[in-house]
Amino acid sequence: MKGATEKTEPDRPDADPGLPRVAQGKVRDLYRVDAERLLIVASDRISAFDVVFRELIPDKGRLLTALSGFWFARTEPLIRNHRLADDWSPLVRPEALPYLRGRSMLVRRLKPLPLEAVVRGYLAGSAWQAYRKGENPPGLQLPGGLREADPLPELLYTPTSKSPMGEHDQPISFDETVRRIGNGDLAARLREWALAIFREASRYAESRGLIIADAKFEFGVDSAGTPYLIDELLTPDSTRYWPRDQYRPGSSPPSFDKQFLRQWLEATGWNKQPPPPALPPDVLAATRQRYTEAYTRLTGEKSF
Ligand code: ATP
Ligand code: MG
Repeated sequence: MKGATEKTEPDRPDADPGLPRVAQGKVRDLYRVDAERLLIVASDRISAFDVVFRELIPDKGRLLTALSGFWFARTEPLIRNHRLADDWSPLVRPEALPYLRGRSMLVRRLKPLPLEAVVRGYLAGSAWQAYRKGENPPGLQLPGGLREADPLPELLYTPTSKSPMGEHDQPISFDETVRRIGNGDLAARLREWALAIFREASRYAESRGLIIADAKFEFGVDSAGTPYLIDELLTPDSTRYWPRDQYRPGSSPPSFDKQFLRQWLEATGWNKQPPPPALPPDVLAATRQRYTEAYTRLTGEKSF
């Protein structure tokens, strides 16, 4: 399985919540609480180019869980989400509480819809890579003459497939999302929600000196077909944040996600296939610093 690597952390005895593990993502572990509920535990693992590294970024899971919680609360008026408020601590092994605290979220167990709802306000990442080769996102037409990191004339909805672990997600057209979901109304609502969350989050982030260049959302449905926002929300793992004061179109702005790590990896000449190279302490520290800064900038808290 591509992307698989030694997963030291969740296998630590003091990290075991004593619940059946139903899935292990690259970063998060999902445990079954009962038929309706899951406990999502965000580890300190880091992945890049869909490969998981052996080293951990201390507190990353807590930073991501805190940021998701922050954004779930802020976007609640726009769309319901999977988070449940109940106290989950009595449901797990007491020995695991020190590890699980701060990095666990009790959620409604839903059926994830087979797409990632990507919204872009600026031309970056894979969209920029495609654009410079003369390619348009499926079903869309971009104007000519845009530079890297330029603002897009309007927000773009550029969904991708949600691929099995270890495979890269591929851009798909809106029509393809309709086909995958089998419901044109729902597909259109997901698009509207994704755009609305992006707009609202961008407005807030700008007030904290950050640009949201692009972001990815996931949705799920319950047995009655009611849609919810699921997964993580507007974390640096799912969102490209740029500091407004260092933003220069025409170049790649410094970013609070794993861009720093990706650039370091590109420079090593690694072929992006497992096994991944060992990450030196300064790269780990610089990566952690970026995650922490995204958190403090967004929440306004002085430290984490
Ligand atoms: P990456 O995010 O690095 O691409 P991944 O998607 O393989 O990795 P994680 O993000 O670590 O894995 O794991 C989260 C998994 O849990 C995703 O597959 C997501 O769709 C799923 N998920 C999130 N929320 C829910 C939910 N409420 N009910 C069911 N599944 C969920
Ligand atoms: Mg994921």
